[in-house]
Amino acid sequence: MQIIGMFQVLPRLVVFDLDYTLWPFYCECRLKREMPSMYPHAKGILHALKDKGIDVAVASRSPTPDIANTFLQKLSIDSIFVAKEIFSSWTHKTDHFQRIHSRTAVPLNSMLFFDDEDRNIQSVSKMGVTSILVGKGVNLGALRQGLTKFSQNWSTSEKNKQKWQTKFCKKSNSSEGNDPE
Ligand SMILES: [Mg+2]
Repeated sequence: MQIIGMFQVLPRLVVFDLDYTLWPFYCECRLKREMPSMYPHAKGILHALKDKGIDVAVASRSPTPDIANTFLQKLSIDSIFVAKEIFSSWTHKTDHFQRIHSRTAVPLNSMLFFDDEDRNIQSVSKMGVTSILVGKGVNLGALRQGLTKFSQNWSTSEKNKQKWQTKFCKKSNSSEGNDPE
């Protein structure tokens, strides 16, 4: 997967929703004994990120975490995730991200997030996470879009940091200059 190599700045952690992001169904509508399937690019993307040294995690508001975990095991991707937060909540995944952050110690602005629900994208991006809405599951197009937006957000925050530093240094320099000699 050459896409990842095209970016100089990369996220440290990529977080995925499960239902309609990694696989095309709601867990609670399926039986544990069924064999699940993923969106065509999903597994390749997980492995490609891992190969590049980028950690992956799950944030799912599923009412049936037991089914979700069984499916992750059946798909042999269970052990690839450094964090799995699968629980139902009234908040739109802000709790999930607080937990992922405390578990991994990765700063929120070093994370990239994929989800199929706009309300989750809205609330998580307000926390400082680069968040991408997916249409028909995560695919190479969504990955490219996510990595592009991540590096844009990163350079904007770096520029703001520089601006702030320049302003601060000027101020402290000028106040120094005003000191009576
Ligand atoms: Mg979903």
